[in-house]
Amino acid sequence: MENILIIGGGAGGLELATQLGHKYGRKNKAKITLVDRNRTHIWKPLLHEVATGSLDTSTDGVVYHAHAAKHYYNFQLGEFCQLDTEAKTVTLAPSFDSEGEQVLPERQLSYDKLVLAIGSVSNDFGTPGVAEHCYFLDSHQQAERFHHGLLNNFIRINQKDESEELHIAIVGGGATGVELSAELYHVADLLKSYGMPNMTANQLKISLIEAGPRILPALPDRISFSARKELVRLGVEVKESVRVASASKEGFITADDELIQADMMIWAAGVKAPDFVSRLGVFETNRNNQIIVEPSLQAKGHSDIWVIGDCCACEQADGSWVPPRAQSAHQMAEQVKENLARLLKGEQPKPYIYKDHGSLVNLSRYSTVGSLMGNLTSNSMFIEGRIARAVYISLYRMHQVAIHGWPKAMMVIVAEKLGKVVRPKMKLH
Ligand SMILES: Cc1cc2nc3c(=O)[nH]c(=O)nc-3n(C[C@H](O)[C@H](O)[C@H](O)COP(=O)(O)OP(=O)(O)OC[C@H]3O[C@@H](n4cnc5c(N)ncnc54)[C@H](O)[C@@H]3O)c2cc1C
Repeated sequence: MENILIIGGGAGGLELATQLGHKYGRKNKAKITLVDRNRTHIWKPLLHEVATGSLDTSTDGVVYHAHAAKHYYNFQLGEFCQLDTEAKTVTLAPSFDSEGEQVLPERQLSYDKLVLAIGSVSNDFGTPGVAEHCYFLDSHQQAERFHHGLLNNFIRINQKDESEELHIAIVGGGATGVELSAELYHVADLLKSYGMPNMTANQLKISLIEAGPRILPALPDRISFSARKELVRLGVEVKESVRVASASKEGFITADDELIQADMMIWAAGVKAPDFVSRLGVFETNRNNQIIVEPSLQAKGHSDIWVIGDCCACEQADGSWVPPRAQSAHQMAEQVKENLARLLKGEQPKPYIYKDHGSLVNLSRYSTVGSLMGNLTSNSMFIEGRIARAVYISLYRMHQVAIHGWPKAMMVIVAEKLGKVVRPKMKLH
């Protein structure tokens, strides 16, 4: 029986494990195993909502062990750290509990086919002080850490008078920085309903810092302009063409030696695959540690290893590179599922072609802006408001359908809606 091992249960890996579980695991045609270092899955584009408390990981997360049992694959908790392509084994590091007691020892898992879907981390480009002083939003643990810091600041300011301000500086004017800025105003607005009348959105001072000439540099001008206008209306200080040279306890220091003072600092600029990927010494990687793949998504020089999502460097026929997005991870999971089936039937794998369905940026409850069907319209079909918001939400709904199937996804969505009626609108602990 073919042994298919998937490392990383995120936007791409969890969808693939679910699909392969139903296709092969159910009928014992192949053994499907998913490895993740976390016990629960949260769709990464929602991490800014975890950071602000709009989303609660303990109720909104998908528990891997339970999900695996229902979808005919095995789940192994562990952190992938080494790869032996000769012996066809991966090594998982030992795991420890909060008391330092070992939960699981180091262990090896074997494979016939390996799929790497371990995502990406923020790239601080070696900027001094950033690792020590900034929050990141690369995992739900990091998002929760920010949330605790934010709540403590809200509580502190609420005890003082209305002249107190909370300064938050965010580096990176991409979707993460823009969406987080708007979401922060939204939760600050909610606080008066939860017994904190002295801490309102008026006390929030957010600086959004972008090194390029405009925020949302990867998206068309019109989306960028519209998002900027909305952020400025909310009160965000949008600083474009500003390069951060270092970070200190007091705030960010720019290349022009200006101090952007901040109580909380977030680094959300640039992505790279984790550094250990290059150190494995197995793959051809680019300067962002991403693994270079063939058009079929097989790692260059390793036909039994497939790479999907943010950790993959996939060049398209026109010389462009597939962008690190949830829609790319979703499409790549579909393509690898098809290519594995083709190989099992003795056929050649097909090349992956990225289909840009457009991009949307959600400015919390204030606005949603974006473009649709990029390949057909060269990103010219601009949408905003309710339609844009509905399309934005549908991206997450597609992910829920891919990992739960239609009937269960519908029940999960109804349960989410009911939960919103009975639970506070933000997590306050
Ligand atoms: C705040 C935010 C907003 C975003 N908004 C959007 C958006 O609106 N639209 C969009 O298209 N994209 C968006 N993105 C980008 C999108 O989230 C990613 O492109 C997408 O999640 C990549 O999917 P992936 O499967 O490659 O990785 P991920 O979804 O990150 O999954 C990687 C998985 O691998 C696991 N893992 C990592 N390392 C190891 C290891 N060593 N061992 C075991 N397991 C490991 C992780 O725990 C995780 O479960 C956003 C990202 C962020 C942070």
